[in-house]
Amino acid sequence: MLKQWRERYALRGVNGNIFFRFLGYFLGTFAPFSPKVFGGTILGKHLEITRVEKPTNVLDFCQLTKYTTRNSPVVLEKKNIAINPFVILGGVRYLALDDINKSLRCSVLSDNGKGSVIITKGGATVQLTAGQDYIHYQSTKIYLLHGLKFGFRGVLVSYDDYLKVLVPLLAINLITEKTPALKTIVLDPGHGGKDPGAINTRLNISEKVLTLSLAMSLKSKLNEKGYTIILTRDSDRFVELRDRPTKARNMDLFVSLHINSATNSSAQGIEIFTLRRGKFFSGNAFDPWNLIAAYSVLSVLVEATGFTNRGIKMAEFAVLKPLTCPGILVELGFISNDAEARKLTDANSQKKIIQGLVDGIVKYGENLKKMSKGLRPLDFRKESRIP
Ligand SMILES: [Zn+2]
Repeated sequence: MLKQWRERYALRGVNGNIFFRFLGYFLGTFAPFSPKVFGGTILGKHLEITRVEKPTNVLDFCQLTKYTTRNSPVVLEKKNIAINPFVILGGVRYLALDDINKSLRCSVLSDNGKGSVIITKGGATVQLTAGQDYIHYQSTKIYLLHGLKFGFRGVLVSYDDYLKVLVPLLAINLITEKTPALKTIVLDPGHGGKDPGAINTRLNISEKVLTLSLAMSLKSKLNEKGYTIILTRDSDRFVELRDRPTKARNMDLFVSLHINSATNSSAQGIEIFTLRRGKFFSGNAFDPWNLIAAYSVLSVLVEATGFTNRGIKMAEFAVLKPLTCPGILVELGFISNDAEARKLTDANSQKKIIQGLVDGIVKYGENLKKMSKGLRPLDFRKESRIP
């Protein structure tokens, strides 16, 4: 009976039907797939194995000759048959971590069996915990588009996050787009003129003043390193949000500088935003580089300043959305936190922030060079070649 339902479900691909969707979820990993992409052959007891008509690079890992499930080991004899790897939950396609590890050649460092797993590759570690909407890459939180789930086959990662987060971090060689260079940079000091940004009235500090002074110092330091720098403003004047990214035409990187603010006066630390991929907006062609730029800058900046690492987040910011090059928005600490606001104005701390930004941007450039030679970029401890 069960098998009949499953066959009916799978072969007809009735994704829209709530009953069948629930049944697919109940049956575990392999039930839901679209017959438009996959053929419809069912082999084995617990697997639905299908021929992929248009295999893509990222699905190559599915082309296995042997596959084992929890309940029944299934040995496939044919080559070029693939297992549909997707679990569909709430209309979102997820992959089991087990398949991801095969695809990215990661190994499991620890697994508590309850949805918390640490995987590793070349000395880098990624911690994934079901129920959370971020992963830890080394010690940095990287927020995902979809939260991590726990299913029949363990931790599940959305296909989008697999492509846009795990692949760039762990197997950049799967990305076929050309690696960009880094010679020219746009620095965008947030706010200005009639728009002061966030303000700390107790200390009489405004965001627009801090971002401008940091950007000016950063410009001269990066010039010394040989980069060509354009500023979106070099004085206390108002610049429309939409006019800022247009300066990045034919440039290699856009860095927007901001100071954070929160009603909770104890909020502190640095966070970096990349462009959000959403329901109505699929991100841009620079998603992998945005993430690598953000990670390169954040990890170095946090180490240089001793500020709290709040992680890499995503937002549909107006200055990031129309960019024609990779871009990040850095929130350099909280002006609403008096202790941190004092640090942001203190000459010695400012020096550390500027040096951290310079070294982070240089690190991003080095990572790009490594990637263009086929080296994994973000492994700071061990620079092993991608197998
Ligand atoms: Zn701001």
